[in-house]
Amino acid sequence: MSSVATYSDLAFRSPEAIREVQDMLLRRHLCYLAERSPFYRERFAALGIDPGAVRGAADLSRLPLTTKADLEEHNRAFLCVPDAEVLDLCLSSGTTGAPVAMAQTRSDLERVGYNEELSFRAAGIGPGDRVLIAAAIDRCFMAGLAYFTGLNRLGATAIRGGSSSLPVLAQLVRRFRPTAVVGVPTLMLALAEVLRAEGDDPRRAGVERLVCIGEPVRRPDLSLSALGERLRDGWGGNVFGTYASTEMATTFADCAEGRGGHTHPDLVVVEVVDGAGRPLPPGASGEVVATPLGVTGMPLLRFRTGDIAALHPGPCPCGRNEARLGPILGRKSQMLKVRGTTVYPPAIASALQELETVRGYYIEAYDPFELSDRIRVVVGTDDPDLDPAAVAGRIAARIRVKPEVVLVSPDEVRTRTLQEGKRKPVTFFDYRTKSGRPPETPAARKDTR
Ligand SMILES: [Zn+2]
Repeated sequence: MSSVATYSDLAFRSPEAIREVQDMLLRRHLCYLAERSPFYRERFAALGIDPGAVRGAADLSRLPLTTKADLEEHNRAFLCVPDAEVLDLCLSSGTTGAPVAMAQTRSDLERVGYNEELSFRAAGIGPGDRVLIAAAIDRCFMAGLAYFTGLNRLGATAIRGGSSSLPVLAQLVRRFRPTAVVGVPTLMLALAEVLRAEGDDPRRAGVERLVCIGEPVRRPDLSLSALGERLRDGWGGNVFGTYASTEMATTFADCAEGRGGHTHPDLVVVEVVDGAGRPLPPGASGEVVATPLGVTGMPLLRFRTGDIAALHPGPCPCGRNEARLGPILGRKSQMLKVRGTTVYPPAIASALQELETVRGYYIEAYDPFELSDRIRVVVGTDDPDLDPAAVAGRIAARIRVKPEVVLVSPDEVRTRTLQEGKRKPVTFFDYRTKSGRPPETPAARKDTR
């Protein structure tokens, strides 16, 4: 596939030059869909759409959106190559629905490696760096594989620690002195705690960069969140936020300036849309819609991620001219309406992270009223002085809504939130009937973490 390695400096060119190349790649992508994708051929025909009439990203809103439900229901119809060309199967670790299989060809694997290479390079990682991958490379996850391939292309040393054992990760830090760690922020915080408990100071471990996956580490104004600050202070390293998904097959990563995730213009076209799927102006929060470019196995058009964020246009001080994506504010499906105020669970989490003695939490949503949801926040703590009313007050200061707060032991929270096979803790339980989903059942077993 020719886009790999050909446009690696594209984000540094002028906005006009970026647009020209991206539009060309988008037209090529649409041709490929029309020729090779059974799903999109049928959809274009059914809707009477001529994809050849689309000249560029500005025309994208004329084309239909693709949902995760489409992928689940018509999975094989998305496949554009013979089975023999599928080299890897990635299961999406989405928070709703059954896992979806995304078939990867050789060039798709090269593409995700190229994407991670760009992302790591933007974070200042290069040859000579030793990078601890504290993420799963097995169980059909794309992430660990993509990081490994990206570091490989970059010429850095990968230390494949996985995400299942803190003692193993602690040992790898002591033995190989990684200069960077890639992982879920809460896991990296727990790793620092393990090192401290065993008499080692994580601040002297030599880790200069913490590349965060799965959880946002910035506030909507792009400053570090309490979680991000705690990571930075705990490790004494720079914190980089990233956002990625298996369906998008693309990562948006902070550069050293920390101004939001850079969207690689040769790899993806990003839109932010409102509830009706209409494009929103730059800076407005809405659902992130991604058209990954250059994918050959299961290419997608205008994929609805279900994640809410805002695009920040304009140049970044690092010299890149493509728009950056702000932190994910929450899942569209987890949007809560409380007395006229819109709230996403991560905003509650972010308020809790400011409290020193909070050790885990989860949020439950109910809908006893027609127009308002009820929120119950269950907080784990060992602190006898922590007052539920004060915790509720702290949350209210952030989200302008005072939820019900219950304090329990950290173990009780862990039992509920750590679920087998889930990459990160499950912290939101939706009991709303209008959400159209059955209530999520509590975990039967604890995670090995
Ligand atoms: Zn930048």
